[in-house]
Amino acid sequence: MRLLSAAVVASLGLAGCSGRGGGGAGDTGGAGSAGGAGGGKPIVIGFSMDTLKEERWQRDRDEVVAAAQKAGAKVLVQAANGNDALQNSQAENLLTQGVDVLLVAPHNGKTAATIVEAAHKAGVPVIAYDRLILDSDLDLYVTFDPVRVGELQGDYAVKRKPKGNYVLIGGAPTDNNALLLREGQMKFLKPSVDKGDIKIVSDQWARDWQPIEALKIMENALTRVNNQVDGVVASNDGTAGGAIQALTEQKLAGKVLVTGQDAELAACQRIVAGTQTMTIYKPIPLLGGKAAEVAILLAKKQPIPDQTKPVKNGRKDVPSILLEPIPVDKDNLLSTVVKDGYHKLEEVYKDVPRDQWPKQP
Ligand code: BGC
Repeated sequence: MRLLSAAVVASLGLAGCSGRGGGGAGDTGGAGSAGGAGGGKPIVIGFSMDTLKEERWQRDRDEVVAAAQKAGAKVLVQAANGNDALQNSQAENLLTQGVDVLLVAPHNGKTAATIVEAAHKAGVPVIAYDRLILDSDLDLYVTFDPVRVGELQGDYAVKRKPKGNYVLIGGAPTDNNALLLREGQMKFLKPSVDKGDIKIVSDQWARDWQPIEALKIMENALTRVNNQVDGVVASNDGTAGGAIQALTEQKLAGKVLVTGQDAELAACQRIVAGTQTMTIYKPIPLLGGKAAEVAILLAKKQPIPDQTKPVKNGRKDVPSILLEPIPVDKDNLLSTVVKDGYHKLEEVYKDVPRDQWPKQP
């Protein structure tokens, strides 16, 4: 057990947890001992993450840690590499270490209910981070509205390609977001499908959001319909990347509408290159900052501001904070992602000759 804790502490260090034990009263922000439990020990937030694989999750980790530190709290981070059992045991470990509140970005929205139960037994409140935890007595849910993300993808696609053959690439079926995204997408696609304008020629889910799965789905779809594909509603940038690889093999990249989500650097570069049509920008600093703020409030049993409509998780109406996502394509990439400094102009335009770069907004 001792050995295990040592290993855990080591991995926490690597995962970017606060190394300085939380600041407290003297910290920046003028909030006094915002993170401290009444001026005493700093609040400790446990952050249990599914993965750090996609670019966005590293940002999530960094933003939560930075915002918490600024408020005088400390964060212990664990990432489970898509392994449900490991995520559950890592969460148990965080509870053993005495965290005051748990943020959980679950790999599996169903099995993570066990984490909520264990935390509540230890008197620790739980916030679902980005992805909902189903059938549990969850305390709070903080996310960019996933249904809205799907709606924005569907709306964009139908407006630009009102007719033709569509391929739908959903995310991980174990992630409730994947289902909500599809719900949002279908609100806009279904009327055109019913009219016969749009034909869905493939409708599959990419296990664990893997780009390679999306690549295979796209290859199969292209073979089946003799390359007659007009639109690809890929649920995130990773799966969009897989689909675009398959399109490139058939010399179709740039000719087919492809959606995405996350405004990953690679996706923004593809938007500039014209191979990906759009993405959904979810400024992670907003989410990470909000999550750290409400985690501290929840730990201190204080009211949670800025709540939007609650979200049903099968057991209760979970108090929620749903942030608004932003659709991005070549027309507003500069005035959003680049202007915010989310990605640097020189990174986004890396593959474009320098004399053709636009002016820094
Ligand atoms: C997130 C997306 C992300 C995907 C894969 C979803 O739950 O909302 O932003 O691309 O998981 O990690």
